[in-house]
Amino acid sequence: MPNRAHNFNPGPAVLPVTVLEESRDAVASLGSLGMSILEISHRSKDFEAIIQDAEKDALGLMGLSAQDYAVIFVGGGASLQFAMVPMNFMQTKADYIVTGEWATKAAKEAKLFGAVNEAASSKDKNFNYLPKRFNFSPDADYVHITTNNTIYGTEWKSVPDVGSVPLIADMSSDMFGMKRDWSKYSLIYAGAQKNLGPAGVTMIVIKRAYVETKAKQQVPSMLKYKTHVDGASLYNTPPVFAIFVVGRTLKWILKEGGLEAVEARNQKKAKMIYDVIDAHTGFYKGSVSDKADRSIMNLTWNLPTPELEEKFVAEAKKMQLVGLKGHRSVGGVRSSQYNACPVESVEALAKFMEEFYAANKP
Ligand SMILES: *Cc1c(COP(=O)(O)O)cnc(C)c1O
Repeated sequence: MPNRAHNFNPGPAVLPVTVLEESRDAVASLGSLGMSILEISHRSKDFEAIIQDAEKDALGLMGLSAQDYAVIFVGGGASLQFAMVPMNFMQTKADYIVTGEWATKAAKEAKLFGAVNEAASSKDKNFNYLPKRFNFSPDADYVHITTNNTIYGTEWKSVPDVGSVPLIADMSSDMFGMKRDWSKYSLIYAGAQKNLGPAGVTMIVIKRAYVETKAKQQVPSMLKYKTHVDGASLYNTPPVFAIFVVGRTLKWILKEGGLEAVEARNQKKAKMIYDVIDAHTGFYKGSVSDKADRSIMNLTWNLPTPELEEKFVAEAKKMQLVGLKGHRSVGGVRSSQYNACPVESVEALAKFMEEFYAANKP
């Protein structure tokens, strides 16, 4: 594929070139079928193999068994999960760890279904850190956490201990970006368009026993996890093409060496940028107060003035470094360095940062 920009878009975001090529080919014709991936039945043997492979590969990456966990694919984005989680699992109250805009939106939806206890929040400092103390309710139906705060650039490398209360995580912006103890979670959801594939599908990993024993019954079919678990994501027509692309991305992760390998590369990429920030602290100001909280997926920083930030983003764009403008709610600069973001792109960004510093330092 010629003319690839250095893509730092926060989402939809960069995908591996081989996955794009495989997807292009599948749109033209899927194998020897004489039909496009866009034209086949979601109930065909061919699609069955695609979706089952995706489920198997996802579980394989997490070291989870198909007896214990189901992987399902639904539409509606991660934002629909903000409502589906409490709709299915909130009996009376739930704990929410509020570390950013997405976590705030998740808690807001939950309030429609019961009592929300903010077990911790970093709102007092505009979400520039991860809370270290928690006020968990022992009788909560679940604890909800956002593992990576896409807008603010913080990431839970390990999550707080919640005891025997079910743990639910929004991993939209760092799903499969690092190794985790996946068996800790009763439910994980991730909108695909950050780190897994194109927009249009959300991957959900859910403990079978949790759905069987804890889910509420009076929930509309399409919004009920059990419907999609029992129907193996084929209760209705799922987003076939988006699932295909996610499946190819999972194969790509496996081929790259699995989660250990992609995590090592993500750490290396993050260090390249944080090192430049830390070498010029008066100029590049990392926006996360505690370095241990820094995300390896979305890196955020400021420059001395909004004018310099604008100039930085504009000049970067001229060098084909795109998608670096910070989220409209915080400003500054954000570099989204998902799994598929090549080391070469991050090298180009680090080099540009040094040059920009030399040309613009006070
Ligand atoms: C992008 C994002 C969302 C929203 O995803 P949609 O698929 O657009 O609904 C939710 N949570 C996190 C952490 C995100 O990064």
